[in-house]
Amino acid sequence: MANEPTKVLLEESQIPRNWYNILPDLPKPPPPPLHPATLQPIGPDDLLPLFPADLIAQEVTRDRHVPIPEDVLDVYRLWRPTPLIRARRLEKSLSTPARIYYKYEGGSPSGSHKPNTAVPQAYYNARQGVRRLTTETGAGQWGSALAFACAQYGLACEIWMVRASYDQKPYRRSLMRAYGGTVHPSPSAVTTTGSRILAEDPGCPGSLGIAISEAVEVAGGHDDTRYALGSVLNHVLMHQTVIGEEALEQLAMLGETPDLIIGCAGGGSNFAGLVFPFLREKLAGRMAPVLRAVEPAACPSLTRGVYAYDYGDSAGFTPLLKMHTLGHTFVPDPIHAGGLRYHGMAPLLSHIYELGMVEAVAKNQSECFKAGLRFARTEGIVPAPEPTHALAETIAEALRCAETGEPKVIVTAVCGHGHFDLPAYEGHLAGHLEDVPLPQERIDTALAQLPAA
Ligand SMILES: *Cc1c(COP(=O)(O)O)cnc(C)c1O
Repeated sequence: MANEPTKVLLEESQIPRNWYNILPDLPKPPPPPLHPATLQPIGPDDLLPLFPADLIAQEVTRDRHVPIPEDVLDVYRLWRPTPLIRARRLEKSLSTPARIYYKYEGGSPSGSHKPNTAVPQAYYNARQGVRRLTTETGAGQWGSALAFACAQYGLACEIWMVRASYDQKPYRRSLMRAYGGTVHPSPSAVTTTGSRILAEDPGCPGSLGIAISEAVEVAGGHDDTRYALGSVLNHVLMHQTVIGEEALEQLAMLGETPDLIIGCAGGGSNFAGLVFPFLREKLAGRMAPVLRAVEPAACPSLTRGVYAYDYGDSAGFTPLLKMHTLGHTFVPDPIHAGGLRYHGMAPLLSHIYELGMVEAVAKNQSECFKAGLRFARTEGIVPAPEPTHALAETIAEALRCAETGEPKVIVTAVCGHGHFDLPAYEGHLAGHLEDVPLPQERIDTALAQLPAA
């Protein structure tokens, strides 16, 4: 035991040279996005007002490997490869025979996995001559990642931040501004969509769906502006596969084969990024890990949503996406895991879930914060509220192993640190965080407004 390594580091030269696209390895392709007016599959041209051509090409490519441009690798080198760490002290505190590994993405400039896609998105936009990117942000992780990435390539960055988080996380706002970004609370009075929502409900806490509508509205109205999405789309999930590719390599160096891989899922990007390379290995018969997504009980798109065509945003500007959804008008309670408050799940991950290749469970935030504290007190890292969902399930599984004596190898991702989320931890420590049940009728009301497709 004393000789076994605690953390596995790779050399800079071992940063993956390609992103992995899982599409060609699936038994059947996911249903296409539809044009909301014609209900016909959208073509690449329909997306040109919002995204640069290179990213649209990546959205639909059937190439298994997509080369990472040198200019992107150069920025990745600031924090990649990221470490894979054996959570030995957590294991000990649980008296579990399980071996727990976590891939730590909190060492990136903005403190989460989000720069893995923010950097290439800013790069491809800058290369096409775009001058400004607009986006939404929940907890502020995506907004700060994109503001950092825009600063690398000389782009302006304008961010709509979900009101609940704008108020809860003032230092995330400051970080976005430090990187040169402009931040609006959402709903905001600067867009038509935001003004309409504020007129109906001046105290609206906002949602990712509303913030997306605002950012899309502004990008669609300006020639030099495009929109960037931090999760959900195929190209975003693909950019995140650097996480899983590195983890595969690191586990191989240890001679370990995972039995169970657990990740938190909001839009699905860090989960897919960790899991898809392992799913490729599983489909090829080289390993057989169980793959499990953990979502918040307050926004359970996989476990309580339906698999249907729905809008990606609240106002209905986006194409219709076939995905697990709670309905685009669903506004989740303002839990602290702001990055998990999205009404839908990535269409690609939803499809893979429908194929029975991944499992899903939902957790209440009090269990998650407890897990976050246990992790902080054993491993030393205060995790962001989002990955505490994965840690809660990891701990539950490790405790099951303690009962059965099974020495499972569990791999999870701590996809961000929680240094900007300390007020949420304060609330938990003071006993102020309550688990609010989500009545079925709230889901039913939102699902009644699904578009007819
Ligand atoms: C954005 C974010 C999430 C949720 O997004 P996914 O696309 O599901 O990964 C989870 N954790 C952190 C730290 C985030 O910043």
